[in-house]
Amino acid sequence: MTASTSATPTMTDFDYDYDLVIIGSGPSGRSAAIQAGKLKRRVLVIDRKDRFGGVSVHTGTIPSKTLRETVLNLSGWRERSFYGRSYRVKDEIHAEDLKARLHMTLDHEVDVLEHQFNRNHVDTLNGLAKFISPNEIEVATEAGETTRITAEKFLIATGTRTYRPDSVPFNGKTVVDGDEFLEMRQIPRSLVVVGAGVIGVEYATMFSALDVRVTLIEPRDSFLDFIDRTLIQEFTHQIRENGVDMRLGSAIESIEDTGSHIEVTLENGRHVRAEMLLFAAGRMGATQSLGLEAAGLETDHRGRLSVDGKTYQTSVPHIYATGDVIGHPSLASTSLQQGRVAACHALETPTLPESPWYPYGIYSVPEMSTCGMSEEELQERGIPYEVGIARFRETSRGHIMGIEHGMLKMLLSLKTRRVLGVQIVGEGATELIHIGQAVMNLKGTVDYFVQNTFNYPTLAEAYKIAGLDAFNRMPIPDEFKVKKPAKTAAKSKPKAKAEAEKTDDKKAAE
Ligand SMILES: Cc1cc2nc3c(=O)[nH]c(=O)nc-3n(C[C@H](O)[C@H](O)[C@H](O)COP(=O)(O)OP(=O)(O)OC[C@H]3O[C@@H](n4cnc5c(N)ncnc54)[C@H](O)[C@@H]3O)c2cc1C
Repeated sequence: MTASTSATPTMTDFDYDYDLVIIGSGPSGRSAAIQAGKLKRRVLVIDRKDRFGGVSVHTGTIPSKTLRETVLNLSGWRERSFYGRSYRVKDEIHAEDLKARLHMTLDHEVDVLEHQFNRNHVDTLNGLAKFISPNEIEVATEAGETTRITAEKFLIATGTRTYRPDSVPFNGKTVVDGDEFLEMRQIPRSLVVVGAGVIGVEYATMFSALDVRVTLIEPRDSFLDFIDRTLIQEFTHQIRENGVDMRLGSAIESIEDTGSHIEVTLENGRHVRAEMLLFAAGRMGATQSLGLEAAGLETDHRGRLSVDGKTYQTSVPHIYATGDVIGHPSLASTSLQQGRVAACHALETPTLPESPWYPYGIYSVPEMSTCGMSEEELQERGIPYEVGIARFRETSRGHIMGIEHGMLKMLLSLKTRRVLGVQIVGEGATELIHIGQAVMNLKGTVDYFVQNTFNYPTLAEAYKIAGLDAFNRMPIPDEFKVKKPAKTAAKSKPKAKAEAEKTDDKKAAE
């Protein structure tokens, strides 16, 4: 059933099959398993899919980012400002071109993951897991066999599944959800994306970069509300310029598959037609088949579990939950971190407390990344602040790269001068954000950017420009003020002499 393990026996060897059983091999399950393996504990990872890696490796993060990179390369996107909008590295781009690199990357990711499991003596099992009691699960394999396994601790890392309302005529080819989208057989000439969340925005802008006619429909009047509005305005302007037809505040009345095209009727009476429709409006916690009642657990209406924010324990203390199944922020990056922290807590191993600020990356075209508070959040909280802005076209690197758009916005406390938020849209945003994140978590101030030298020419120089922009409008702290030489001279004189001079000055004034 399982691979052999050379883990050191513990007291619990006689009570349970494993010290820790992890259900789900996505980023949080993976990092928890490797951490447990490094602590030489008996750990088992179970996944219902025959290949490990989770949503992140197979249908989410890695495939969508590989697709993005392929689109940008083949379409010559980054070179268009020099060679014109019609410039393409490859004249005709087909679905097979997009998939070729995808399969190579995925194979490599799974290979690295399986090697990590082996090296750290992590046992693995493929099958659908469900609780029989709080300390026992049953795993049903595809071959129809079932196995019962006991463990002292459990980690639920089952992630999410796509939300598929009955009103949408999914057919797996021209009306698809986010997981099926990557299986497309040919690149459509027109695409409707329903839902302007992170996934919808990413795919809509990627396909627009391929010159596909894209309509992005969002029932609400705004989108990506957790991002600073200045950034969203800049982003919306750019994607509209790139050809995305954005329909905000457009609730959908019906979606019809006519056989020749997909017809979307909006509540305002307007119609949108396209060759393909991607429904990207939300995901649900993948908890339905876990038999949670047997473990004494309940979920919310979207199938998500709630946990203690520091330890990741559920209401049943020996059962932990991490990753997308616990909801916001639902990122691979945060899932990796949560899994490791949960494993350390479950295996009674101390670990460093998590830093308060983490970045959010949106790999749209152009990409966006944020860390910390937005201007709207500062206003809501009544925190006095100053803003520093840099446009990428102000940097020499930007000129060299032919960058016409992109900006970095920094928010600074007027009281403490500390960096409270960094928001970036444009080339390299998801990499550049880490400079701001480091300064924020190390409690740095605007002065860091003014005092330090940055490589030149770089896009990172935008930090320096934004820092100076704000610095020049902020009150200068006393320690930075230039001291006048006359005063210095007076101070250096012996006290009696200075006093005498003061009396003299007074007399002279009389
Ligand atoms: C299109 C898309 C793009 C994304 N892009 C990014 C990005 O750029 N950056 C980023 O940080 N995040 C991104 N994400 C989010 C990221 O993929 C998730 O946050 C991450 O995968 C969550 O990890 P997880 O540990 O919760 O497990 P998941 O990756 O969700 O995997 C869960 C695993 O559990 C298994 N499982 C479920 N139920 C059972 C059961 N009963 N028994 C056994 N196994 C079970 C599933 O088969 C699955 O393999 C993206 C997501 C999507 C969909």
